[in-house]
Amino acid sequence: MANKFSITFYGGTGSVTGANFLLETEEGGEKHRVLIDCGLEQSGRICPPENFAPFAYDPRSIEALFVTHGHLDHVGRIGKLVKDGFTGKIYSTPPTKGIAELIMLDSLGVMEKERRGTDLPPLYEPADVEQAMKQWQTFGYHDVLRLGNLQAVFRDAGHILGSAMIEFTLAGKKILFTGDIGNSPMPLLPDTEKITDIDYLLMESVYGDRNHEKRSERSEIMKGIIKDTMQAGGTLMIPAFSVERTQELLFEIENMMEHSEIPLVPVFVDSPLAIQVTEVYKKYNDYFKKDVAATVRESDGAIFKFPQLQFTKTTEESKAITHSGARKIVIAGSGMSNGGRILHHEKANLPDPHSTLLLAGYQVAGTLGRIIQDGAKHVRIMGENVAVRAKVAVVTGYSGHKDSDHLVEFVEDTAGTVKKVFVAMGEPKSSLFLVQRLRDYVGVDAVAPVAGEKIEINL
Ligand SMILES: [Zn+2]
Repeated sequence: MANKFSITFYGGTGSVTGANFLLETEEGGEKHRVLIDCGLEQSGRICPPENFAPFAYDPRSIEALFVTHGHLDHVGRIGKLVKDGFTGKIYSTPPTKGIAELIMLDSLGVMEKERRGTDLPPLYEPADVEQAMKQWQTFGYHDVLRLGNLQAVFRDAGHILGSAMIEFTLAGKKILFTGDIGNSPMPLLPDTEKITDIDYLLMESVYGDRNHEKRSERSEIMKGIIKDTMQAGGTLMIPAFSVERTQELLFEIENMMEHSEIPLVPVFVDSPLAIQVTEVYKKYNDYFKKDVAATVRESDGAIFKFPQLQFTKTTEESKAITHSGARKIVIAGSGMSNGGRILHHEKANLPDPHSTLLLAGYQVAGTLGRIIQDGAKHVRIMGENVAVRAKVAVVTGYSGHKDSDHLVEFVEDTAGTVKKVFVAMGEPKSSLFLVQRLRDYVGVDAVAPVAGEKIEINL
């Protein structure tokens, strides 16, 4: 009997977001039908209308869903999948389950706001998240998960806490889905695992056409910005994403304070989601890289805990920050200033020439963060005209994704065995550029599938 598999690219093609792949396998007459990721498509809005369309497959026909990591563009439609009848198991690492639950519940609120004035039904409801959690089982890295003759193993992707590449083995051949792969070395996480024996590879390409500034330089830049702002007697505002970026910043700031490299000023984490996610990071600190995990153990688990650090959960606590003196560091969401508590701090401090706004993440066109980054001298925040006299600093070395050179290196490691590479999860120009580089420099058969395309492989 023929052994074969197919991958259908239902999402995450021609776009960074909306990862959703269907893997169908057949070996010796035994068939399996599993999904890899079920993410939200995003384009300026958190949840644009295309997410509400029915799935292109019957969710009831799916045996299991494998989740690479807890970001919204990889988990955001799981609630809908369950609501639409999916009753199979969901598999991920333990931190991914913890982060995914928080992200799914948190995005409900934002989606609700976006839905106002439209006739769209809720994409999913809290009960669907609760149901998803009941169907969810966790496995550690390298544990072998068996669905009959289809085997799966999670390998460390080094992108956010618990992030995994999923390696399937079928009829002796290995098929790897990378999810997002980290910009190693990362401050908290182990490096992306080296893979050397993969036959078929489906990979991300967010930065397929670009390289990052050096990671080593970014801490120095950060140190300089903190020192200058505190010397000037201003506030340092950092709009940050809740997962990984906030925890990385806290870890680095704590280190700088411990080594007296920056003044001991108050540090506020002013984001309910970031505070909850930080708890997941504390709980699963054995997923950090070895030296960080050892430091945590030596200090009795006191990571993300130093005298200057305050987590502000309530609105009252958040408002009180404004009156707590000028010299301080405020980390708040959202990362692109298109909502969240950072807006209150920007409104209060952007007019102050002694303060600084530090942009440490990619700012999508049209967001307030991008408008300020592009040099606007006046902006509208919550209906008010706000003058921008504060300094605006941009640090790009904080990306959580491998850049073009490192994506190529990643494939080179398995060039001896790989038969085909599917390049996905990137803007078209980025994916196509990477496809060309892989063909020219690594000499592998690489393609960038289009949305809805089904590729069949006989083994
Ligand atoms: Zn991600």
